[in-house]
Amino acid sequence: MNTAKSQQLFGKAKELIPGGVNSPVRAFGAVGGQPFFVERAQGPWIIDVDGNRYIDYVCSWGPGILGHAHPRVIEAVKKVCEKGLTFGAPTAGEVELAELICTCVPHIETVRLVSSGTEAVMSAVRVARGYTGRDKIIKFEGNYHGHSDGLLVKAGSGLMTQSVPDSAGVPAGYAASTLTAVYNDEESVRRLMEENRGQVAAIVVEPVAANMGVVPPKKGFLEFLRQITEENGTLLIFDEVITGFRLALGGAAEYTGVHADLHTFGKIVGGGMPLAAYGGRRDIMSCVAPLGGVYQAGTLSGNPVAVTAGITTLKILMEDTGIYERIDRRATKLEAAFKEKGLIVNRAGSLLSAFFMSAGRCVANYEDACRCDRGAFADYFNRMLERGIYVAPSQFEAMFVSDAHSDELIDRTCRAIKESVE
Ligand SMILES: *Cc1c(COP(=O)(O)O)cnc(C)c1O
Repeated sequence: MNTAKSQQLFGKAKELIPGGVNSPVRAFGAVGGQPFFVERAQGPWIIDVDGNRYIDYVCSWGPGILGHAHPRVIEAVKKVCEKGLTFGAPTAGEVELAELICTCVPHIETVRLVSSGTEAVMSAVRVARGYTGRDKIIKFEGNYHGHSDGLLVKAGSGLMTQSVPDSAGVPAGYAASTLTAVYNDEESVRRLMEENRGQVAAIVVEPVAANMGVVPPKKGFLEFLRQITEENGTLLIFDEVITGFRLALGGAAEYTGVHADLHTFGKIVGGGMPLAAYGGRRDIMSCVAPLGGVYQAGTLSGNPVAVTAGITTLKILMEDTGIYERIDRRATKLEAAFKEKGLIVNRAGSLLSAFFMSAGRCVANYEDACRCDRGAFADYFNRMLERGIYVAPSQFEAMFVSDAHSDELIDRTCRAIKESVE
């Protein structure tokens, strides 16, 4: 495989951009080797600057549920661009997208548009604090909620130890109000709630975790979170930046039957453009300025081009009622191929992860996920890439199946899995 142009670009990028990339995981640090630079992408394919073609299961880390460059989305975006790129004033599109989100997702009454998932979760947490008048929040080890200061935290060793930030540059004070529990472990949540009675503004959770590999909630876990938050006057925030419009039109709320007080969206809702959202109960969302005292704003919030990509994507998902059944079924085929090779597979709908660890174990939380063999994963990743298949360059990312992954390409991928997993 010729990668001369990518190599040259990466060399230059490293001189101009920290690590040569604008988001760390793109650097291929966990799998060795160097990233390819993308020329273009179409449907299931991503094509690099050297002309190599890969079947893409990263899908821009989640947005690409329709595959790349869906003709309807591209057409709509081209058309709206001609009217101007940004106005900083309201447009009809924002109302339409808000209506679509409220229609698709049960229990969302009002919604605010922002530009990234990070912003959406950061803002939802601020609203929860403003609404409850409390400072502390509970998050789960291995759940990712973007890179805002207060959310880049996991417990040092076990949940009873003092919370420490995961990143340099995060003041210890911020981390102190972020308590960390163990995913799928009710007792860890109950203990934190008891020790901090009357002080917890929100529990924020990925309803189906997908940033430590895919880790679905155990039966009853979300129901438990729903109940304990209600009993304590704490808000429940579902971070649906990945699961929203992915597991079902109504996201995890529809998929699991449990809904939160606030939900955050990103990735798919922007249809490939920088757009995200947070919303929920009207009385809670009424805390947001200009109605209430919780300030949150954005120069490019509700950007007309991004909004158009989002609207068009959601409309396609609404009109094509077979789409979720198709992508789920294709993900099931991949699941079977990994299982045949003895891997532990977690799957929720079209999201799946194969964990490289000895058979018989299951992955229910971050500690479990950390036990897997990252070296074996790196070998598999590179063998897949050689066979023209691009999976995320990290054990802890999901594999995303899109509607552009035809049965034929899925079968081809299954064969590659058989050859690539030792
Ligand atoms: C990707 C992600 C975010 C952050 O979204 P960005 O748009 O990258 O800022 C937040 N929460 C979850 C669950 C995510 O997967």
